[in-house]
Amino acid sequence: MSIIIKTKEQIEILREGGRHLSEVLHKVKDIIKPGISTYELDKYAEKLIREYGDEPAFLNYKPEGAKVSFPASLCVSVNEEVVHGIPKKDKILKEGDIVSIDLGLKHKGLFTDMAMTVAVGNISEQIKKLLAITEQALQVGIHNAVVGNRVGDIGFAIENFVHSKHLQKENYGIVEVLSGHGVGVAIHEDPYIPNFGKANTGEKIKAGMVVAIEPMLNMGTKNVTLDKDGYTFHTADRKHSAHFEHTILITEDGPEILTQN
Ligand code: MG
Repeated sequence: MSIIIKTKEQIEILREGGRHLSEVLHKVKDIIKPGISTYELDKYAEKLIREYGDEPAFLNYKPEGAKVSFPASLCVSVNEEVVHGIPKKDKILKEGDIVSIDLGLKHKGLFTDMAMTVAVGNISEQIKKLLAITEQALQVGIHNAVVGNRVGDIGFAIENFVHSKHLQKENYGIVEVLSGHGVGVAIHEDPYIPNFGKANTGEKIKAGMVVAIEPMLNMGTKNVTLDKDGYTFHTADRKHSAHFEHTILITEDGPEILTQN
């Protein structure tokens, strides 16, 4: 597969879909509180998507190499879970948890992808900082998703930021085995967009590309392990992890975040 440059018509549909997705995910965020199950979050997300006449992109999606398809609309990953957590009726959020909610939406045949990590009630200052820095890392990545740069410049900028001097003592691990990606015609398209790397490497960034940028930062080691369920990634040392993602359109005038209102 090669990189798909989107047409004007496709871009308009992706803008609409991105707005829907952002509204849905923020509404899901708003009901997060101690006592709610990850299953309830999933059902609410699916209901809101269908109210728009759209479709959940992850439900029944079968990534290459997977034995079974993903059984839910929303990926819900709690604390040491990094991404792709499967919602469960008996997984109840409690005060002090953090929860990553990751959602894909199909609008008029085209896909957008978005994620954020949310505090459940009060969380420690240390974890608050992890969330803030991960969100900032996403912004750094977005700022570097510009015409004239290459894909490697995005990861290079993220890595430079996360490992910059003022964050030295945090020593966050940047997850390397999972990455951002092209999106739009399919939920995962070329190119891969790692959250680390070398400047001036990889594909040239061109206007009309649509990409999902999604840094995942860990309190400890960058290493992750895959759960027996075949989907959920945990940090190898079971320390907390955070994840933020936007779908971005590259324009001649700079990056445009599609997944915001
Ligand atoms: Mg994604």
